Amino acid sequence: MRTVVAKFGGTSLSCAQQFRKVQEIIKADPDRRFIVASAPGKRYPEDIKVTDLLLRTYREAVQGIEYEPVLEQIRRRFDEILTQLGIDFPLEEEIAKIRQNLQEAPDRDYILSRGEYLNSRILAKLLDFTFVDPEWCVCFGEDGTLNLPMTRRAMTAALMPLHNAVIAGFYGADMNGHIRTLTRGGSDVTGSLAAAALKADLYENWTDVSGLLSADPRIVEEPRSVKYVSYRELRTLSYMGASVLHTDAVLPVSDMDIPINIRNTNRPGDEGTTILRKIPKGAKKDPIIAVAGQPGMSVIQVEKVMVSDESGFSAIMLDILKNRQLPFEQCLTGIDTVTLVIRSDLLAGCKESLFEEIREKLKPDYLGLKENLSMIAVIGEKGTEVSDANVRVLQALTAAGISISTMNQGAGKLNLLVGVPEECYEEAIRAIYSTIEE
Ligand code: ASP
Repeated sequence: MRTVVAKFGGTSLSCAQQFRKVQEIIKADPDRRFIVASAPGKRYPEDIKVTDLLLRTYREAVQGIEYEPVLEQIRRRFDEILTQLGIDFPLEEEIAKIRQNLQEAPDRDYILSRGEYLNSRILAKLLDFTFVDPEWCVCFGEDGTLNLPMTRRAMTAALMPLHNAVIAGFYGADMNGHIRTLTRGGSDVTGSLAAAALKADLYENWTDVSGLLSADPRIVEEPRSVKYVSYRELRTLSYMGASVLHTDAVLPVSDMDIPINIRNTNRPGDEGTTILRKIPKGAKKDPIIAVAGQPGMSVIQVEKVMVSDESGFSAIMLDILKNRQLPFEQCLTGIDTVTLVIRSDLLAGCKESLFEEIREKLKPDYLGLKENLSMIAVIGEKGTEVSDANVRVLQALTAAGISISTMNQGAGKLNLLVGVPEECYEEAIRAIYSTIEE
């Protein structure tokens, strides 16, 4: 028997109707034995996630504001789910425990975790699966960060003996038994930890979209979804803001070569996107799988004749940035130049003093700043056969009359980064997207 860990996000468990869909999905494949659940999410765009309501009660309690109306809103959300599913559950008792915490000593992480706790217990009842409280197996250190090796051992011990289980996402506890939450969206991480601990065959991540899209749908009309993407390509995509998965959710499974399949609870027939180490041979014809970008970039250009002969020139430049805790997006070095791409908002308050320091320490022949640029990442990798794809990207941009300000590519892999003027950003995305073959 295969082991599939399936994580269902907030929109997949937002109301009784969604719970029923989840139940059908789990029933349809007996290998889906370990389920990770989020708190109820939004039912419609203006709705409020239960986690956000919980956060509001905590803030109100701390500020001495009346939190009962919001707590009542939370109670009603769960009550509606329970009534419509016909599940017998000690809801009043559970709400009383939350109230007691708010009254006596409001604890942010404890309060925030209750959405996942309650939703997972309800789902476990509906499915007739064992409920596993991550309080016992997702382990945090004193500093509030996740202890991966301990979690791995504790999760394996807790889950391996079970035939099936529902595990609450998003939280765990430290050595003193205090509840600690992961960062927002952290149930993705819990799912990944469970998949790794169980050495699962597959980690399914069920959400409300049919996987990763090959371009931003606000720019490209109905972009195709990506069928396969490597862990590495996914990192570039999420860095460029196109992620559907918590970034920390990749490492535990990628370390063990467990594929992640992003699926849509509302369209369970769609294959979604599969994320794995190596894309199966012949699965894609085109090395380019997606295009993503970020506006709001600036380029600093430092020129000095024979920079390359001057040892430590780039190192001094990077040191200046490091001491100012100024992260950069790209650093390109040429014979006589060092070019740095930095987010414009980070430069806003420190441009003059930074330039002064560069002039003083590097004595450049020329120091320039280009603002209002967008960085576009052309994502895809396929051994070294990338030249054709590069040519296509450049031709598409040239044909659209878009000038290229910077260009960067690591050895051998596609993941090409181009800088274009901000006003051409959307046009450039569309031009590159139009060259992607299915
Ligand atoms: N419920 C939490 C949040 O809204 C965690 C999660 O959904 O993964 O961030």
